[in-house]
Amino acid sequence: MDQWLPDIVAVMVSVSVEGPYSYRVPPGMQVVRGSIVAVPLVGRLTLGVVWGVPKDNTAHNRLKDIEQVYDTPPLSDELLRTVDWVSRYTLAPPGLVLRSVLRSSEALEPERQVMAYRKTGHEPERMTPARYRVLDTVADGLAWAKSAIVGASGVSASVVEGLERAGALERLEIPAPPIALKPDPEAAVPTLSAEQATALSQIRELDVRKFGVALLDGVTGGGKTEVFFEAVADTLRAGRQALIILPEIALTHTFIDRFARRFGTRPAEWHSDMTPSQRSRTWRGITNGEIRAVVGARSALFLPFHELGLIVLDEEHDGAFKQNDGVNYHARDMAVVRAKFAEARVILSSATPSVESRNNANAGRYKHVLLTSRFADAGMPDITALDMREEPPEKGTWIAPRLAREVFATLDRGEQALLFLNRRGYAPLTLCRACGHQYQCPDCSAWLVEHRFRGVLMCHHCGHEQKRPKICSACGVEDSLIPIGPGIERIAEEVAVRFPDARTVILSSDMGSNSQLRDRFSEIEKGEYDLVIGTQLVAKGHHFEKLTLVGVLDADLGLAHGDPRAAEKTFQILTQVTGRAGRAAKAGRAFLQTYHPDHPVMQAMVKQDREAFYAHELEVREAGGLPPYGRLAALIVSANEHDDAMGFARTLLSAAPQANGLRLFGPADAPVAMVRGRHRVRLLAQSPKDFDLSGYVRFWLNSAERVKGNLRVQVDIDPMSFY
Ligand code: ADP
Ligand code: ZN
Repeated sequence: MDQWLPDIVAVMVSVSVEGPYSYRVPPGMQVVRGSIVAVPLVGRLTLGVVWGVPKDNTAHNRLKDIEQVYDTPPLSDELLRTVDWVSRYTLAPPGLVLRSVLRSSEALEPERQVMAYRKTGHEPERMTPARYRVLDTVADGLAWAKSAIVGASGVSASVVEGLERAGALERLEIPAPPIALKPDPEAAVPTLSAEQATALSQIRELDVRKFGVALLDGVTGGGKTEVFFEAVADTLRAGRQALIILPEIALTHTFIDRFARRFGTRPAEWHSDMTPSQRSRTWRGITNGEIRAVVGARSALFLPFHELGLIVLDEEHDGAFKQNDGVNYHARDMAVVRAKFAEARVILSSATPSVESRNNANAGRYKHVLLTSRFADAGMPDITALDMREEPPEKGTWIAPRLAREVFATLDRGEQALLFLNRRGYAPLTLCRACGHQYQCPDCSAWLVEHRFRGVLMCHHCGHEQKRPKICSACGVEDSLIPIGPGIERIAEEVAVRFPDARTVILSSDMGSNSQLRDRFSEIEKGEYDLVIGTQLVAKGHHFEKLTLVGVLDADLGLAHGDPRAAEKTFQILTQVTGRAGRAAKAGRAFLQTYHPDHPVMQAMVKQDREAFYAHELEVREAGGLPPYGRLAALIVSANEHDDAMGFARTLLSAAPQANGLRLFGPADAPVAMVRGRHRVRLLAQSPKDFDLSGYVRFWLNSAERVKGNLRVQVDIDPMSFY
């Protein structure tokens, strides 16, 4: 695709526009498809990418010139095609999608040199102990970065500068050290178990230079990471770049360490915790080809690889892979799209694959690679459903007597227990005993959740916070507020009374910064706590050797949602959290507190029958025409006034074109009918699988009345949340 283009080119600017604009290539400038340029756009310079030849060549003499081409490799054709595809599929403007690729112009400037010093051989007249230390450090005659001298000799920068003035050191500029070293595929090749070796050989049946997808479907603790690391090694050996995408990278320090043990060096990282300079250097390293392996969050999908050979999605079922603002894309599906354009392999790894991926594997579109037992003879945990109708907790408590006894016994043996409740805070609802007033967010249709440690009532939708009042704001009675229902802080209170000697830690996303949370996780790994109380944050990926008991306090919590994926999500979270038990030498046990022990999800859990769950769930989906057998698209109309939102949604509905097999539902007030003061009304479109639902919705919106005033329509193709 590197053909030279004529003197007028189509440039996609990285702002929210519907398509590329034409620009003139000034004499002497050369661009190709993918060249990154700066172009004038309404009076200012904007980053853009040469997309190709303009569709129409009119208005020749009114065109503006491209201002500058950056001296950086043109973006690869497969990346441009991915941007186009994502835009077409999600209905996000292509310029907006391109912004996920071109984040800053800083990454396009040449790498900044760092200041370094080298000894001249001249000995200054006045010597001090500090000066001796510096000269000792640089005695090898090499150029040392200033910061490295300071670090190695323990002196202040002024000593170094003083030695320069005295003529003992000369200053020079050297290239900055690489942000990541090259991973070595031969550094520490593991010995795989027989089952792992079979899994790897199945993956190896996919050509390392061609498109292909494998679903690595293996029980928790099955050693999936070891298997896909070998596929990463194959990719590196073939001279191609590898990308591993994780759902919650900021908390997975152990993953980076495992990578480093396997490949002899840490991978490049890509996530929101990085400084702008780290981002720029990483971006540049990837486009230059110096960086061969990246571990990142979903946004890493848009990095400027040129030799992408493998994308691994770990925990591929995870909801965090769906982005719900700006561009509403699903990283799993878009990874497959990019890999197709790049002729790369994809490995989707999970102990609880999405029903979509299972269906693709069943249909033979993905290679189905199974790991059915845990590594090193660790058994699967034994799972029991605790029928809350027969063995209820005592009034005012949440832990059933049998589970409490199990916790005791576990602590007694010196092992760890985990109590899981997927609800942050102290209580999900606060009401006044005197007048019945229920505390609600002023801007959302949601109850305020009490966070007792911080003494506030908080909205989990918009973050609104207020101090927990002493006096009921409705009736004025003092000390009348009572909490209804438990969050994990309330469980911690019960635990403190029941197990006063246990070293307890409570973990949820609002319990500290990422680095504080990482510290808690390593303390748990080291066995510094006996009892862990946590939300879904602790359910995923962690390997706690001493943990042998998991108690799920409300296994039914997720089933209540009016969400077609409620059963699937519940099965996934329950499998993940119970999968934390007994991952090492000692056997694990798990208890599910439930009011519905006969529910297919609970039955599949207790019988450890994943296949039964997937078979049942696929049947339900097929009968309802739901994904993966049908397609869904949600339109969320919002406005400051309810009548405006509802009125516009009705207009939209009446403008909807007829189409064979297409069904429309709504408009109806969304389950959370107001968020941040905006009223929300939902429409849902359902179509057969082979229907171009994105194209239909685009045509529909284009033929409908334009959105005016404070009205907004958000399109969500393949919605994952239904609030
Ligand atoms: P999964 O991701 O499937 O839940 P992991 O990849 O985390 O499982 O593996 C579980 C544990 O077994 C980890 O501690 C891992 O280091 C260990 N393990 C797995 N495979 C091997 C192997 N081939 N050699 C040594 N240790 C392994
Ligand atoms: Zn709110």
